[in-house]
Parts: sequence; C-alpha cells; structure tokens
Amino acid sequence: MSLDTATLYLVATMVAAMLGAMLLLFGKQENIPALKWWGTAYLLGAASVALWTLASNTLGETLSLALNAVGFVACGMVWNASRVFHGRKPNLPGLVLGALAWFAAVMTLDPAASAMRMTIGAGIVAIYAALTAAELWSERRRTLQKRWPAIVVPVLHGFVLMLPILLGDLLHPHGDMFSGSIWVTVFSIELVLYAVGTVFVIFMLVSERTVTAHKTAASMDPLTGMFNRRGFAEATSRLIEREANAGRPVTALIFDIDHFKSINDRFGHPAGDEILKLFSAIVINTLRITDLSGRIGGEEFAALLPCSLEEAVTAAERVREAFANSGIVVEDGPVDTTVSIGVAGGPAGTEFEVLLAAADTALYQAKRCGRNRVEAAEELPLSLENWRRMTAGRGASSATAARHPAPRIEPMGAR
Ligand code: GH3
Ligand code: MG
Ligand code: MG
Repeated sequence: MSLDTATLYLVATMVAAMLGAMLLLFGKQENIPALKWWGTAYLLGAASVALWTLASNTLGETLSLALNAVGFVACGMVWNASRVFHGRKPNLPGLVLGALAWFAAVMTLDPAASAMRMTIGAGIVAIYAALTAAELWSERRRTLQKRWPAIVVPVLHGFVLMLPILLGDLLHPHGDMFSGSIWVTVFSIELVLYAVGTVFVIFMLVSERTVTAHKTAASMDPLTGMFNRRGFAEATSRLIEREANAGRPVTALIFDIDHFKSINDRFGHPAGDEILKLFSAIVINTLRITDLSGRIGGEEFAALLPCSLEEAVTAAERVREAFANSGIVVEDGPVDTTVSIGVAGGPAGTEFEVLLAAADTALYQAKRCGRNRVEAAEELPLSLENWRRMTAGRGASSATAARHPAPRIEPMGAR
C-alpha cells in the first residue's frame, strides 16, 4: 500500500484545525481557559504546517523557517494548556524557547544539512511532548482516577518523533531520500492520531474535573461552605475507619443553636443566615484541623473528633463560649447567640450512627437543662433500635423525636 504524503499531511492539518476550532468554541462556551489555549495551539499548528507544506517553495527561506517556529510555539501552547488546566500560570519564556532554539540552530547549522534540521525540529516537538506528559503526570496523585491515557498519548508522540534520532544510522533516515522515506508517512499518520488522541485526553480530563466538581457540590452546604449531611457522613466513615484501625476513640458532637426560630422572627431570615455563617466559622476555627464538622440540618451542626470524650467536651465548651461571646449587634440591637451541645464518645470502631444518636440524647438533655450548655452522654445506646424506641416515648415535644420521626407502620387495609 502506498500512501500519498501530501494528502496525509493535508488530512492531518485539517483534522487538527477542526479539533482546534471545536476546542476553542467549547472552551469559550464553558469558560475553560486551558481549552482556549489548546484550541489556539491546534489552529496555530495546523495553519503553520498547512502553509509550510503548500507554499514553502514560494515563501522563501526566512518565512519558511518562521512558519516552523510558529509550529514550535503551538507545541509550547499545548504544554502551557496543561499547566493552565492545573491552575498554574502559563510559562511564557518556555513557550518561545523552542522557537528561539530553532532559530539559533538554523543559523549555526550548514544550510545543506536539512536532515539535521529535521532531527532538531523533531527533538523540540518531542521535548514539548515530554513536558506536557510530565505536567499531566505530576497531577496524578491528586485524582483517584487512572490517568494513563493522559501520559501515554504525549509520550508516544514524543517517542515516534524521536525514533529516527534514536535509531539513527540503522535506518539511514539522514540519506537523500529522507523526505520521501517511510518516516514522513509515519509522522503524518502519527500526527492525526496524536491530534485525535489528545482531544480524547482533554475531554477525559475535563469530564473528570466536572464529575469531581459535581461530587463536591453534592457534599457541600452552599451557605456555610461546610460539609452538608451527606458529605459529612462520607467523610466521617473514612475517619472512623482510620481511627478504628489505629485503635483510637472517636467522639461525636451535635450543636443546635438555641431559639433560632425567634432570632429569625425578630431580626429576619438574612440575619439568621449570617448567624449560621458566623457559627460555622466559630466551629471551624475552634476545632482542630483533624476534626471533621458539617451542617447536618437547618441550625444543626455536627462534628467528629478523633479524641476522647473528655477532650471533646473541652472543645465543645470552647465553641459554646466563643458563640455566646460573639457579641453580634444588628440594627435592632444585640442578638443573644447561644448554642446547646451534646457530646458522645465511644471506643474505636463504634458506629457513627450510634455515636450521633447518643450525642442527640445528650443534646436533648442540654436543651432541657436550660440551653447554652454542653452535656455528655452517659452511655452509648446498645443498638439504634433501642434508642429509637426510647426516644419515641419522649413525645412530639422532643427535639430528637422530631428530627428522627419513627416510621409509621399501618396494617394493610387500614385506609
Ligand atoms: P431550640 O432552642 O429548641 O433549638 O429552638 P429553635 O428555635 O432553634 O428550634 P426550631 O427547630 O424550632 O427552629 C429552627 C429554626 O431554624 C426554624 C427555621 O426557620 C430556621 N432555619 C432552618 N434553616 C435555616 C436557614 O438556612 N436560614 C435561616 N435563617 N433559618 C433557618
Ligand atoms: Mg433544631
Ligand atoms: Mg435550635
């Protein structure tokens, strides 16, 4: 099978240009700067290769070399796109360094050594491909998903470009017939595969990031920026497992702001929201960085501390005091901000739901004893079932029972 090189290059550049336009449009639409870099790189690369192949004979030596330089800048842009994608600044000196090296090499080389030029050109492209691969590789730890295509595609690209250099004399690529040799065909086919492969990688990375962003949004509370109930439950199960493996105790805290309904009623819902934000800030700043906290309901927050009950009670007392002393004043006057806290600790490996249930009972006790206080659970419920039965007996006035209404089981045919 014989392949026409000019046609192959034409197809390669057209594919690259089309992908570039798509990336640019998509990047603009979704406002992803890295995609704009990538798209521009493809368009620039395609334009320079197309002009160079079609008109290099009529352009003259200098313009033709300048077109090559534009191609290297395009490779540098692909590398910078991967930097920007990871939130790093574009490296502008690095962007033009390949082109500068190219000019320097051309000026110092014998004009007849066209094969040498090609080797250097391929080397520059391969270095940019390696930098791109390294950039994507360095980010691999931050994500749980496998990223091998993101590394393999640019590495393969660099490898194909370097092959004639690596194999050197063995295949005689530097001979007179180089321009018509198998390598030119291989390069053009590889160019198409690289362009398509890279776009696949880009979309894989973008979708991975979008999924992560959605997952984060699903586990965060937008008002306070804390974990919501779901995110908190997920995070706590990891912490409990870790502490259980190490044989260390964990302690759960439940916070419920006192008379919050009346704060809303007197000062308005927006003021209530501000107080929720303030409380979350107090919790985050008062607890340790290794403690987990979240907003599990309207004005209810919870925390899980990898420490003993006594230490957790001290931490809870600090939160209570800080909130009580926050001294909030609105237009209508000072706002009394107090919180009641229930604390329950358990040995390593205690189920989180059991801890939370016990902390909830302690919280109920704190409310009953006059609010603005910390109560520790005396004992852990042996099972959640027992606890539910027990709290169901407290009646509708119980904060806890209202939070966890017992399921109503009606006999069949009752309606
Ligand atoms: P207690 O001392 O017994 O805890 O009384 P409370 O008024 O705090 O308890 P209750 O559960 O009766 O009221 C909770 C209030 O929290 C009712 C609801 O309007 C308010 N709330 C829930 N979510 C939000 C929110 O996101 N923003 C604001 N501003 N208020 C909220
Ligand atoms: Mg409440
Ligand atoms: Mg309350």
